[in-house]
Amino acid sequence: MLLISIININFLWNRNGNGLKCRVFVTFAHQNFRVNNMNKVRVRFAPSPTGPLHMGGVRTALFNYLFAKKNNGEFIVRIEDTDQTRFVPGAEAYIMEALQWCGITPVEGPGIGGAYAPYRQSERKEMYLQFSQQLIDAGWAYYAFDTPEELDQKRKEAEANKEVFVYNQASRNTLNNSLYLGMEKAEALIQAGTPYVVRFKMPENETVEITDLVRGKVSFKTNDLDDKVLFKGDGLPTYHLANVVDDYKMQISHVIRGEEWLPSLPLHALLYKALGWENERPEFAHLPLILKPVGKGKLSKRDGDKMGFPVFPLQWEDPQTNTISAGYREEGYFPDAFVNMLALLGWNPGTEQEIFSLEELGELFSLERVGKSGSRFDPEKTKWFNHQYLIQKEDGQLAQLFAEQVLSPKGIVADSATVEKVVGMVKERVNFVSEMWGQASFFFEAPTEYDAKTAKKRWKEDTPALMSDLIKVLEGIEEFTPENTEELVKNWIQEQELNMGAVMNAFRLAIVGAGRGPHMFDIISLIGKEETIARISTAIEKL
Ligand code: GLU
Repeated sequence: MLLISIININFLWNRNGNGLKCRVFVTFAHQNFRVNNMNKVRVRFAPSPTGPLHMGGVRTALFNYLFAKKNNGEFIVRIEDTDQTRFVPGAEAYIMEALQWCGITPVEGPGIGGAYAPYRQSERKEMYLQFSQQLIDAGWAYYAFDTPEELDQKRKEAEANKEVFVYNQASRNTLNNSLYLGMEKAEALIQAGTPYVVRFKMPENETVEITDLVRGKVSFKTNDLDDKVLFKGDGLPTYHLANVVDDYKMQISHVIRGEEWLPSLPLHALLYKALGWENERPEFAHLPLILKPVGKGKLSKRDGDKMGFPVFPLQWEDPQTNTISAGYREEGYFPDAFVNMLALLGWNPGTEQEIFSLEELGELFSLERVGKSGSRFDPEKTKWFNHQYLIQKEDGQLAQLFAEQVLSPKGIVADSATVEKVVGMVKERVNFVSEMWGQASFFFEAPTEYDAKTAKKRWKEDTPALMSDLIKVLEGIEEFTPENTEELVKNWIQEQELNMGAVMNAFRLAIVGAGRGPHMFDIISLIGKEETIARISTAIEKL
């Protein structure tokens, strides 16, 4: 594109070689360069390190990541840590680790670097002051000296009159600020060390209209908005100023974020205008809320512990209270199952398909398929997703996980071929690797007790004699394979005209300790002849 423009302009230059065209050439080429840059999709996830990342935050990161993948763009992470009062130690590391666990990997970010470094706003703080000053100089912002107590007083007075105090066009001209006092006085106050903030001077009687890529046209009346603080006396910008400045500086093409930021949109749009960056303003997309399982209300950080499911990707220990909140990772979810579930909270593929790899999602994702209304979070469906990913995994991989997570802590050592066969037999019945023990413990341990109900029903007076005969049959089997044992035991039952159910149910009770489990002959061939016979003998003794 740049090349074509240069050729075009050169052509003009040759025909009308004058100074004016020369300027056109420069501007045009420059604009094209800028347009080219903005054509490159660059999106960011911009969390504030105020605590662990809620799963809604992970979804925002995911949608940004997928949008970048789909558009051959770049996904970056920026840490918005200008609010020192809300800073929580460990939160940034948690956020980065959570993204990594999910496979949502940025190309630029803190600890990674990149052309627009640093990626922590606290490390960029010197830069924001000039923009605050620029806004003041241009009349888009003003100094305000009102103390928290004075503002509180105003609020109380308004409340007494059943009104709400808002710092805006209606009130600003009577308050303690540079608009009311005049710039000279204001500067003198600052010189004298009076604490101040810089507020945005929201224009009067305007309508700000923007096309949101999820919601379509949205419009805001400026008279409904307040004069937000942009810069604080501590020398740091607020979220609004830092966010806009950094999105501009980092050449962000699309801002994709949660619905809770929609009210900030008119201010952000006006900041682009006020700073002279309107032509480079990114596109905006505000994602729908994630709702509680009951379908009403935003899923909050506290819901998880109350309702018994994790709301955080990783377990989080609060550094202040030392309380622990559950995480999907520690609860045994596979990251790809968690991510798959999140992708469908707000986005739909337009087909019945539900299982998507991260790569597939990156090929299919589009903001057009993101809904406007909130999506209900379903913890049961989330387990279902985990089940789907579990059964898709290779038995060898599951065996390794099962051995590491379950067998080793119990001090059980088993050869990998056996473990692999066991997990293959039970994986259809579980949602988590940890649940396999409940389905497979009898492969590794003889039953220590017998299910009373089953025993009552299946262990009759003549059962011990039957089982003793069964032991004799089993003793005679040379190759203890599932096929061999099945054939020989069944032949014996038929020849002796025994009741198949009576033998097999009692046999199962002796081996498993209950009336459940996979195919009996698969079980005994795995535990081996000796163990099988030993368990039957024990049952004869104990039952
Ligand atoms: N720092 C904001 C947050 O914590 C970012 C919002 C945005 O993406 O603009 O969510």
